[in-house]
Amino acid sequence: MSSTISSTPAASAAPPAPAAPPLPAATPPPAAPPLSPAERERYSRHLLLPEIGPAGQQRLKQARVLVIGAGGLGCPAALYLAAAGVGTLGLLDFDRVDASNLHRQVLFTLEDVGAPKAERARERLAALNPGINVVAHQTELCAANVRALFEDYELIVDGSDRIGTRYLVNDACVLYGKPLVSAAIHRFEGQAMSYSPGRGPCYRCLFPEIRDGVLPNCAQAGVLGVLPGVLGTVQATEAIKLLLGIGEPLIGRVLVYDALSLRFDEFHIERRPECAVCGDHPSIREPRDPPGFCTVEEQQRVPRISARELARRLAAADAAALRLIDVREPDEYARGHLARAENLPLARIEEHGFAELALAREAPVVFICRSGVRSLKACALARRAGVATPLQLEGGLLAWQAAIEPSLPL
Ligand SMILES: [Zn+2]
Repeated sequence: MSSTISSTPAASAAPPAPAAPPLPAATPPPAAPPLSPAERERYSRHLLLPEIGPAGQQRLKQARVLVIGAGGLGCPAALYLAAAGVGTLGLLDFDRVDASNLHRQVLFTLEDVGAPKAERARERLAALNPGINVVAHQTELCAANVRALFEDYELIVDGSDRIGTRYLVNDACVLYGKPLVSAAIHRFEGQAMSYSPGRGPCYRCLFPEIRDGVLPNCAQAGVLGVLPGVLGTVQATEAIKLLLGIGEPLIGRVLVYDALSLRFDEFHIERRPECAVCGDHPSIREPRDPPGFCTVEEQQRVPRISARELARRLAAADAAALRLIDVREPDEYARGHLARAENLPLARIEEHGFAELALAREAPVVFICRSGVRSLKACALARRAGVATPLQLEGGLLAWQAAIEPSLPL
């Protein structure tokens, strides 16, 4: 959750955790082909470590790890896992690179702005280590696809920036018996924990429910660019330890890092027998969609309006009846927006719906974003929420800029 450290954990701080017993490898290592001379050279500093050695390196070569989110956390985690020789590395992200990502998402450069993150990350990682198989999943994780996606992997690294996705990933890992390494960042602070099936607590034991008023994400609250670098590399470290069954993983311990005071702390948590997913009588039997999730089909069905048609209607006598909702982040909105457009970021809509807009039942509402991706989702959510006549500005403000107002700053 780049976004979301809930502020009131269910478990309170307790004395440091007792040392965990030795951890078995995540799955029994299958017979691996011996390392090639080139691999022995590439991984020679791993081979010198008795805890890894040739057998451990072969185990990493056989490993299948899925990184959720190619963002601030996912980029460094994936870079180090690829460099370490994790044989199959999946990267899941539906988003495209934005210029505001570059201060922390170290897989991308200026020329990647606008490109799909998962695919561009796959190219970078394959260039770093051509000996591994990197798989790009350019999709949004949901209840309908989580099982098929997780089936191909033995360990999940969660670097998503949405609280709803965090619960979906946690629940799926518990239900499907996959080890999970999570981390979260907020402004100058981060936290990390690991889950291993049948051993210790899950994320829901710590934060039982998605609560109202969770902290805003990076786009809303800001974040120190180097912060996810620290937490993402902690996640890569944990993934390697869990795969190899070495050391003492962050199971039953939450690591808390404060960059301003430069302090690492930890608190101990227990599995809660009443946990809805990993407890003794679980009520969650299937993964659930995050709040605000809508399917591609729902998004394809939304009514669109072209830039030219919108301009015509805004010039017409009844223009005042048209509500314009700009769903970009406040800093993007501040750079330039359509006259009369109101700002309500998509993330707020996903968490709180449309209540704060006080929409008149009959007034048409036009949802607007930069390129037409976020507005499509906002429009689909509006339809589902019963907004009478939602429309989506096709091609977003880029289309408006091209057809109507070339001087609009974006
Ligand atoms: Zn639990």
